[in-house]
Amino acid sequence: MFLDVDRFKVINDSLGHTVGDALLVAFAHRLAAVVRPEDTVARFGGDEFVVLCEDVRDEAAVRALAKRITASLDEPFLVLSGGEVFLTASIGLAIDDDHPRAAESLLRDADAAMYRAKENGRDRLEVFDAEMRAASMLRLSLENDLRRALTRDDLVMHYQPTVDLATGAIIGAEALIRWNHPTRGLLGPDEFIPVAEDTGLVVPIGFWALEQALTDARRLVADPSQRPFQLAVNLSGRQLTVAHLVEDVAGLLTRHAWPPDQLCLELTESMITDDIEPAVEMLVALKALGLLLAIDDFGTGYSSLTRLHRLPVDIVKVDQTFVAGLQTDDDRHAIVTAIVRMVHALGLRTSAEGIETAGQLAELQALGCDWGQGFLFSQALPVEEFALLLADPPAW
Ligand code: C2E
Ligand code: MG
Ligand code: MG
Repeated sequence: MFLDVDRFKVINDSLGHTVGDALLVAFAHRLAAVVRPEDTVARFGGDEFVVLCEDVRDEAAVRALAKRITASLDEPFLVLSGGEVFLTASIGLAIDDDHPRAAESLLRDADAAMYRAKENGRDRLEVFDAEMRAASMLRLSLENDLRRALTRDDLVMHYQPTVDLATGAIIGAEALIRWNHPTRGLLGPDEFIPVAEDTGLVVPIGFWALEQALTDARRLVADPSQRPFQLAVNLSGRQLTVAHLVEDVAGLLTRHAWPPDQLCLELTESMITDDIEPAVEMLVALKALGLLLAIDDFGTGYSSLTRLHRLPVDIVKVDQTFVAGLQTDDDRHAIVTAIVRMVHALGLRTSAEGIETAGQLAELQALGCDWGQGFLFSQALPVEEFALLLADPPAW
């Protein structure tokens, strides 16, 4: 059984490490008090504990133990300062049925089940099953392949034009990553960026993406000072935690002689809502390089409009779900109207994602939305095809 105390970082951060340590000790005592004498309780690291139960009759017996553990957490913990803290735990269970297995593999399965418990809302028990094994095998092979992809040049950037909605001119492009998988074909980012984020691989991948986008942009636009081109590149939240991110970006801009104000880094709304302060600091430092920042997928996260003005952003990208409902759903129309007005009132630009029909385009133009992108104009294209589009843009 693999146990992880829920939201322990918050406790540590808010009450301090001394209180955190004392709570872990108290937590361990409660665990030890409810297990059977023959069970082993161990601290695995940080806020993670392992309970090893040998000679159990059946799954029900372990489930009963898990229940006793959760029940033991119903009472609050008293902290030195006099307050009370409630702790919950996410528990993953792996059963070593007939054939004894290596301890590591049993632990790994229990750990995977614990992760599932976290995903399913914490404070619960999940039992490792065949489906989880298949999912974790797939993840593992995806992770290994992805590591290799980075060194084998199997990643590519595609470019989707950004259009000035008032004039119809292509003013730039968003760089979107693709993975030329050796057996599975061209994969979109949704199939591998989540794994890259979990494993930290998104940091080197993100650096590669930015470098590749700048290289391609220089090929597309020989002299950006003569012909401005807005290059947009997505950044993962994880990259914002890299201490040398600002130096990395500055170095790339210099190396590729690309004007900072023609690079826009896009951050999804959801990644800046959790723990906003360090992210804001990083964003301010990035902005100081002279580049633009955009909030991507706006409207899908929880950030309020008031929070927006605290962020040093230049562009707000209206999520495609709102654009899709513009003509069919009065509520969505109202939301897009409100977003565009509010963003303009803050002195920022709006950009609409996922424009697929002429009707949506007309609505957005009527609302005064500044920029847009979508299949109506073009899908994301390999750089050579994008170059052709840029050289001879159709009238839309
Ligand atoms: P995003 O930044 O919001 O990118 C827009 C997505 O909408 C792209 O999907 C694009 O192909 C798709 N799209 C564009 N126009 C339309 C349209 O008219 N209709 C519909 N249905 N979809 C449209 P894609 O390329 O699959 O990218 C998905 C997400 O993956 C991106 O969303 C971005 O968050 C992430 N991503 C892409 N490249 C990178 C990267 O280099 N680094 C990181 N960290 N994330 C990336
Ligand atoms: Mg984007
Ligand atoms: Mg988006």
